Amino acid sequence: IVYATILPVGEGERVDEYLLILRDITQIKALEEVKYQFVTNVSHELKTPLTSIQGFIETLKDGAIEDKVVAMRFLNIIDIEARRLYRLIQDILLLSEIENRERREVGDVVVEDAIRHVLNMVSEQAQAKGLQLVYKQTEPIILKQMSEDHFKQLLLNLITNGIKYTDQGEVSVEAFLERGSYILRIKDTGIGIPKESMNHIFERFYRVDKSRSRKSGGTGLGLSIVKHIAQLYNAKIEVESEEGKGTCFTLTFK
Ligand code: ADP
Repeated sequence: IVYATILPVGEGERVDEYLLILRDITQIKALEEVKYQFVTNVSHELKTPLTSIQGFIETLKDGAIEDKVVAMRFLNIIDIEARRLYRLIQDILLLSEIENRERREVGDVVVEDAIRHVLNMVSEQAQAKGLQLVYKQTEPIILKQMSEDHFKQLLLNLITNGIKYTDQGEVSVEAFLERGSYILRIKDTGIGIPKESMNHIFERFYRVDKSRSRKSGGTGLGLSIVKHIAQLYNAKIEVESEEGKGTCFTLTFK
């Protein structure tokens, strides 16, 4: 896409020549399109829980409130949807913060401590599904010039995905050094990712199975956040997955 501007050049009223300026705006347009798509998607994603909340409030006001059991059921749904809204807004804000490369405090991150902290946070969720959380600890690793918040967020998103998309077996975390690089590996024995979806999973709001993602409380932004955090620290992400067998995410920090 080319954008053309014609400028008259001369002294006073007199025009001696015209200047034609051509600008290739293909990239700018593509970026605008991505932004527009994002805003459209965000609005849609925010509207869904809100519509549900409004619907149940209306029904309660119309009389359902008289029946205590029914009322409690509806209030629970409202609660779940409100929490979904909160998570969505948090993820959107975080994504925009990371995309704008806003700095968080960086320093030395003790990988083992961060992993243990995150595993503690999700242990109940794993237990509720009867899943094992395994941490394969090797040598102590310290990541330099990294934000602890970012590192924990990255771990949290990958581990909770492991839990969400696994029905039986385990989710394991491994951190080790290999040829001067730090490797972080999160592996599950879950449903796996279909081949045709592998190129899309890091896109915002992309889900292989929308209803499964919804039921497990997903926002569709988790992996997008992971990708952007990894980019911020020049880490490489690799995914291997087999349907019905499991998925393995490997991050390599130089
Ligand atoms: P969501 O909130 O839906 O989990 P994500 O961005 O974290 O969003 O992931 C995008 C999609 O990628 C998920 O909806 C799911 O279909 C797929 N996915 C992510 N992690 C896994 C995994 N460990 N096993 C199977 N599928 C996964």
